[in-house]
Amino acid sequence: MKISEIRVETFRYTSDKGKDIQGHGHPAEPHEAQQAMLTIVSDEGVCGYSFREDITMAMGLVRPLLLGEDPFYRERIWQNLYQRQREGSALTDRVLDAIDQALWDLAGRALDQPVYRLLGAFRDKVPAYGSTMCGDDLDGGLNTPQAYGDFALQLVARGYKAIKLHTWSTPMPGAPDPKRDIAACAAVREAVGPDIVLMLDPFHYYTRQEALYLGRELEKLDYYWMEEPMDEASVSSYIWLTEQLDLQICGPETAKGGLKTRAEWIVRNAADISRVGTGDVGGITPMMKIVHLAEAFGVQCESHGSSIGNLHALCAMGIAGQFHERGLLHPFTDYETPPPWLNALPDPMDDEGFVPAPQGPGLGLDINFDYIRDNLVSG
Ligand code: MG
Repeated sequence: MKISEIRVETFRYTSDKGKDIQGHGHPAEPHEAQQAMLTIVSDEGVCGYSFREDITMAMGLVRPLLLGEDPFYRERIWQNLYQRQREGSALTDRVLDAIDQALWDLAGRALDQPVYRLLGAFRDKVPAYGSTMCGDDLDGGLNTPQAYGDFALQLVARGYKAIKLHTWSTPMPGAPDPKRDIAACAAVREAVGPDIVLMLDPFHYYTRQEALYLGRELEKLDYYWMEEPMDEASVSSYIWLTEQLDLQICGPETAKGGLKTRAEWIVRNAADISRVGTGDVGGITPMMKIVHLAEAFGVQCESHGSSIGNLHALCAMGIAGQFHERGLLHPFTDYETPPPWLNALPDPMDDEGFVPAPQGPGLGLDINFDYIRDNLVSG
């Protein structure tokens, strides 16, 4: 089998989410936005698909590396793309992720099997946690500690057994403020009681002392983990913090360097729980290497983000991983309706807080090709 064509089709849809100047998502007035579908076509007619907003720029570099390759040579393709990243090009980890996920999708469609079974299945459903958007200044949104407590009650009523707060970051008024973060964490614990698993992802540039304060307060509130309270470029700061807390520190998340950086964090005891998402490291292929690396060191490894690739990886993890991150969630937005380019939600959750492994071939996305064709911007 050979890769015969690579297509990127950009299409429009109406979004009710926007980003602040730091890149954090919030509810927004409905507005036109764009999404792109990557299609990898084989000479035997089987295709693989994935979705990303930002892949068009890299296609000039990608095409010569992929055309004519056997799409089952995912490792060779990934190594070629990874080594080209050193040139500082548009070949970001997100681009590698889109390509790798499309190749896994193609393999699964060719073999009529879901990706998690090709990876080596471990379980058929995973517990989810509800992951909130960052704090804001919207009445009825996530503008006060009590608002977080109220929203947490809604999430528990929906079936979540675990919740992660993203609290206030710049440019929100009054942010960052560790005391206010803890007030929100306390309001949520107070609202949901002792049996719900809780985590915190605060502002990412606190000092060591501020991060230590957060950690000690979260220990009193029986939180399960905290992630990225400081700049992850400073591994020493994370070693320092992890040594002093019983609370588990989960990371790295946004630090560059993928597999190699996570290996360094594990051997240097910079975090208690390792962290990886397909978008952070360039696909399912490298994500599974990190999962197995963590397992070899006896380190828990948790999935970052709600990508469909993460869900398949989670269903193929042995001892390493636990939760699917579902979100981001906010009182004003609806996570339960699929985006218009999909006919079904990729990660539906039952009333007990579990997300089933996708059972369709490949990634199992039920793509609305008519919607995409009718709303093409380019492609
Ligand atoms: Mg995070």
